[in-house]
Amino acid sequence: MALKILEACTNCDMCEPECPNEAIYYGEKIYEIDPDLCTECVGFYDTPTCVSVCPVDCIITDPEREEDHQTLLKKFEALVLNDKI
Ligand code: SF4
Ligand code: SF4
Repeated sequence: MALKILEACTNCDMCEPECPNEAIYYGEKIYEIDPDLCTECVGFYDTPTCVSVCPVDCIITDPEREEDHQTLLKKFEALVLNDKI
């Protein structure tokens, strides 16, 4: 699954620089995650690093973007091949 930031986000700026895929950006009101770039950190870390640094636990897995490990790995490989990350 790609991850999603909830409205409880306090715009603390902690997660954005930590994302290895540059999937996090400042949206209209709060930070948002581009689901096409989020690999749940597969290819880089064992666990999602944005979740680790968020002080208010407002980053969740998006139930509308279910992806298994293999799919996330293929997404990571495609991003690397396309030089997106
Ligand atoms: S899970 Fe990883 S790839 Fe996805 S937004 Fe968070 S830091 Fe970026
Ligand atoms: S770390 Fe959490 S609270 Fe801070 S900007 Fe990211 S999502 Fe928002």
